[in-house]
Amino acid sequence: MPGNLLHIRGLKTNFYTYQGVVRALDGIDLDMAKGEILGLVGETGCGKSVTALSILRLIPSPPGKVEAGEALFDIPEAEFARLEGLRTEVRALAKGVLGAASPFFAGALNLPAVQRVEEQIARAPSTSSGQRQQALVKLSELQVMLVQYDLLSKNEAQLRAIRGNNISMIFQEPMQALNPVFTIGDQIAESILLHRPKTVSRKVVLRMRREALRKRIIASLLDAFRGRPDLPAGVALDDPTRADLRAVWDLLGRDPSKNPALLAGLRELMALEDTLGEEATKRSVYSRWLPKVFQARVYADLWERGGWKASDVLKELESVPPLDWSDVRARDELTVSLTPRKGTAENLAKGLSEAMRNPRSSPSWQALGRVLEPPRVENGSVLLRVNPPHSVPRQNAALRVLDWVPVFRRALHHPMRRQALDEAAEMLRLLSIPDPERVIRGYPHELSGGMQQRALIAIALSCDPLLLIADEPTTALDVTIQAQILALLKELKRKGRPSLLIITHDLGVIADMCDRVCVMYGGVVVEDAPVREVFKHPLHPYTQGLIKAIPSHAERRDRLEVIRGTVPNLIYPPGGCRFHPRCPAAMPHCGWDAQDLEAAVRRYLEEIGIGPDSDVTYESPNPTGLAVSFGEGPEGERAIAHLRARLDAEREASPLLRAVTGIKEDGRQLNFTLMKSRRPRHLAVEPGHLVSCYLYEPAPGGGPDG
Ligand code: SF4
Repeated sequence: MPGNLLHIRGLKTNFYTYQGVVRALDGIDLDMAKGEILGLVGETGCGKSVTALSILRLIPSPPGKVEAGEALFDIPEAEFARLEGLRTEVRALAKGVLGAASPFFAGALNLPAVQRVEEQIARAPSTSSGQRQQALVKLSELQVMLVQYDLLSKNEAQLRAIRGNNISMIFQEPMQALNPVFTIGDQIAESILLHRPKTVSRKVVLRMRREALRKRIIASLLDAFRGRPDLPAGVALDDPTRADLRAVWDLLGRDPSKNPALLAGLRELMALEDTLGEEATKRSVYSRWLPKVFQARVYADLWERGGWKASDVLKELESVPPLDWSDVRARDELTVSLTPRKGTAENLAKGLSEAMRNPRSSPSWQALGRVLEPPRVENGSVLLRVNPPHSVPRQNAALRVLDWVPVFRRALHHPMRRQALDEAAEMLRLLSIPDPERVIRGYPHELSGGMQQRALIAIALSCDPLLLIADEPTTALDVTIQAQILALLKELKRKGRPSLLIITHDLGVIADMCDRVCVMYGGVVVEDAPVREVFKHPLHPYTQGLIKAIPSHAERRDRLEVIRGTVPNLIYPPGGCRFHPRCPAAMPHCGWDAQDLEAAVRRYLEEIGIGPDSDVTYESPNPTGLAVSFGEGPEGERAIAHLRARLDAEREASPLLRAVTGIKEDGRQLNFTLMKSRRPRHLAVEPGHLVSCYLYEPAPGGGPDG
């Protein structure tokens, strides 16, 4: 688990159809590290996309249902250890109250299981009410943790806050994912405004501040420098660029009269130019309908009500001219500590308080002043702690009221939308889309397939997600565009952008892009290893088959290698190892059942002309038993004799027939018994290389080949 972003255990998803229950995922286990590119590969119908949709809870229900499992997302290492510790404690306490025979101890303790145990404990007649109370306290702590970290335990509102924000997805068909009636810019901006109103409102406030500051500074500069001979040529005082401001700053620094107010203003303006970029947001026509002061207050309020963490405080401290501190770091989720460079911590705390209280200081200082508790000195450092009510997002009352009046709603939302559109254009520029300002005004049908896919990637990346799921991102594109999109994803990875989960059936994409790969077959992960390992030493026969099926320029072959057979119908998934009917290395204990034996018996009988409409009947009371009844007369005798002869002749070569442990003849009926089987375990054969295959674990109960 250390450093994992995603930790999936026992994920099971079923689809309830008229034909029967499709067991699409049957206990998926996989881990994904932070910053990793993980590939999910397998034939169509193996459950790759269902895995991604299940963790995002996007499976249409009905007919789909995530039946079991957990998907812990972005859980810190210490919290994971605490969660596991709580589970152990809960098991021990619940055993004490309910007795060791309780059925709840067999499975994993995910949220539904915890709720069932809680109900049972609350109803159980216990000898020790203290023990019961303790168990209930631990159970509620466990529930809180699961709701916080387990994607499968979250409610719809919590999931909406995660989808498109912390976890984004790129789909195979961009035109199916893009909305044809909205512009590209609006579709990117929608995601930004929905998930990051705090960041957007912060930028709007800072832009307003920059506008006002610029006006004031330009007036002062014109007063102080107009006509001065030492002003470098080309500096435009009435509309200064960043370089002009820097030139004036140097000049002011050498000026013996030093104007401290102008210097401070200039310094703040340059810091704002650095934070916001030089391009100013166009003024909104609607914004004239509401007083500027009122607007500034609403955006500042929106910014401050966005739910603050230590990381937000760090970001604000980076954007203000520093006081005399040397080491700034997050101490916990809500606290930042600062060490004074020289002087005492008390002096630094005083300076911070003054900056935060001064009504003329920058918006960042003022916001910090409103959301932080007063600075505290501890062991030579100054601690800034977010006031707990500010650590959770709150509704903006003014916006809620004004949202009811359409004209005010437009006036208030327009600057935010403009800001979001600027960010959308910036995102398209980052993805190397030429002329992004034009593209954000265009509609999806105006773009080529590659551009549409890039626009989709821009939407997915707009909120800086921790995890990006790319579901067959290049399948619908031609090879040139495929290469460009893959190069783009690689470039994003190089720039430290999100961890990537790539779903594909193309092993070339896996080899080119991924750090690690999970090979899926029939709704289970059969092999999980670093990419180099999988290509150099594939262990599972299915992976070996996939790799052999890659056409090679180096080797001349008359026929392409294929994996015989097709993926199983998951309404009737094969027992034991789901790959056994197609596996060239299958053994008797790999999961052969009555269904397989019946198919073989039918085949042998067809050799002597006994077809499906004969009077032979098949009955299987359980997966390991098959009764074949033959009609009276010489026909039945001939069939039994032929079948016995074929079974004897084929036994050595057929793992299915070697799985038959007994044949009893009862008149005109043959009763077959097969060996019991279970699914192979997912075991680490080498460090970091996990495989589910009996070739790498002893046969259960020691089968003939085991
Ligand atoms: S367990 Fe291994 S050997 Fe047996 S059928 Fe499955 S893949 Fe083949």
